[in-house]
Amino acid sequence: MNTKNRLFRQIFSLLTILFLGAIIWGAFAIETKKVVNKDVSISQITQEIKDGKIEKIVVEGNKITAITKTKENLISYKEASQGLKDYGINPNDVPVEIKNPESGQIWGTLISVALPFLLLIGFLLFITRQARGGNNQAMSFGKTAARVYGGEQKITFNDVAGLKHAKQELIEIVEFLKNPAKFKALGAEIPRGVLLFGPAGVGKTLLAKAVAGEAGVPFLTLSASEFVEMFVGVGASRVRDLFAKAKRVSPTVIFIDELDAVGRQRGTGLGGSHDEREQTLNQILVEMDGFDTDTNVIVLAATNRPDVLDPALMRPGRFDRKVTLDLPDRLEREQILQIHSRNKPMADNVKLDEIAKATPGLSGADLRNVVNEAAILAARNNKKKIEQIDLRNSIDKLLLGPERTSFVLQGKEREIVAYHEAGHAIVGHALPELDPIHKVSIVSRGMALGFTQSLPSEDRRLIPQSKFEQEIIMLLGGRAAEKLVFGEVTTGASNDLERATTIARNMVTIFGMSKLGPIKLGEREEMIFLGRDFSHKNNSEKTSSEIDQQIQEIIKSAWEKAQTILKKEMEILKEMSVKLLEKETLEDLELTKLLEKVST
Ligand code: ADP
Ligand code: ZN
Repeated sequence: MNTKNRLFRQIFSLLTILFLGAIIWGAFAIETKKVVNKDVSISQITQEIKDGKIEKIVVEGNKITAITKTKENLISYKEASQGLKDYGINPNDVPVEIKNPESGQIWGTLISVALPFLLLIGFLLFITRQARGGNNQAMSFGKTAARVYGGEQKITFNDVAGLKHAKQELIEIVEFLKNPAKFKALGAEIPRGVLLFGPAGVGKTLLAKAVAGEAGVPFLTLSASEFVEMFVGVGASRVRDLFAKAKRVSPTVIFIDELDAVGRQRGTGLGGSHDEREQTLNQILVEMDGFDTDTNVIVLAATNRPDVLDPALMRPGRFDRKVTLDLPDRLEREQILQIHSRNKPMADNVKLDEIAKATPGLSGADLRNVVNEAAILAARNNKKKIEQIDLRNSIDKLLLGPERTSFVLQGKEREIVAYHEAGHAIVGHALPELDPIHKVSIVSRGMALGFTQSLPSEDRRLIPQSKFEQEIIMLLGGRAAEKLVFGEVTTGASNDLERATTIARNMVTIFGMSKLGPIKLGEREEMIFLGRDFSHKNNSEKTSSEIDQQIQEIIKSAWEKAQTILKKEMEILKEMSVKLLEKETLEDLELTKLLEKVST
């Protein structure tokens, strides 16, 4: 919910009403301007008829309108008892139209009289609605737009998969919120603030809600970026309001998302010494320090940048507990997938363990998206249940972007892409350290013209040097195939080259895996200024050129090896490319059969 948006919407609807009014008025004005009405005596009309100047007579009850050939309306009234003939008007001389007395007329008058009133009433109603209501936007910028949860669906720890360690840390908080008296009786000091560290989508918000849910207390949340508004002082007053609200409903959990938006280190001169931010941060600290022993409010805050937080936030009595949330491992991914497929019809062929295996590095939020996207795909194909293929396609879509059906490769380009991808797959299969190849495709997705996917067999923490080397060889396998088959290379490999170079650079500078020895080079100094990362390396000129030389050596040797492998496997390269051109995507048994022939 965005305060500013709401205000704009209201102003907009007011303007629309006014415009509409104006347009209707305009229409009436034009209508009445077009014809000239003139009150005349009946005898004048009779005379004009004789002179042949009248085109038509319209009679509505007692009103007689004579329309002249010059489109003037001459209006007169007759007595109710008299007919037209009594005034010497003969229907043979001029066409006469008898209208139902006054019907159209009445509405016209009514509208033109009532419309201004209606508009006025509408406007007044609008104004009063604006002025009423406590959380009215236009007149109370300083109030928080905090959302209070509770009641509806309760989220508990059962809805959170994995994160065992974090849950354990938080159980104590839940206990306290459930029964503060028990702890106080023993004089226990209860933490006031807990910081949740972790990358986006690992479930920080979810866990905070679960803490409130488990304890059965209300949950107030606000994103720290919502504190900081255009006007100085707004943030601080929102903080005050948020805490006041919380105290009223305590025991309760306050959740502040994106704490780094206000909690960046102060006084570094970098990131701008933003007054507003600082005031907001100070207010948070003041509120937390001001908790007395009877305040049963726990503040949970989330950030994915613990390194930039102001140390003052972490002092005792403030956020003195830290809980780290990691990306889920394979088993946890399976559990997360299970949670999110609970209320969806899954076909019998669905193997969530396989999906979990294929999704290393994805967060809980990503996995929820995988299941959701699969449901959408299944529905689009009019299926009653979600099948394994839907889940797989959903992963591809998430990782590589949607299929580009509007963009179909043709002729030679298609052939080049087929050889390129087959090259990656065969080189990848030939190298022992690399993960098994899972899928090869020349269907364009997102930025990629084709792709080769491998399935990591485990989440690795320690990566040996040989694996890096072989990864680079595989990345160059695409280009090597192009070179060997077509005698020329294309731009198609630019992303491969970039990734290969990054790996090589990391080997040299971070992991000490080169002739320069076990040394960390190119220390990055973090500087964030105006929201941009101005990191710089502090190597000497000489070291820099040595690093470049090492990178070149690694890449060069990999390039040779990729070509050696493919020269040996030329037959299979051709076979696979032909199959790819025919089927576009190779996976499972078909792929395994082809790759089996590659000597490893
Ligand atoms: P964060 O706050 O860390 O960015 P969220 O808590 O907003 O992440 O996670 C977004 C969504 O992802 C959650 O609402 C939930 O549906 C799903 N999710 C994330 N982590 C988990 C998990 N461990 N178990 C179950 N669902 C999860
Ligand atoms: Zn490639």
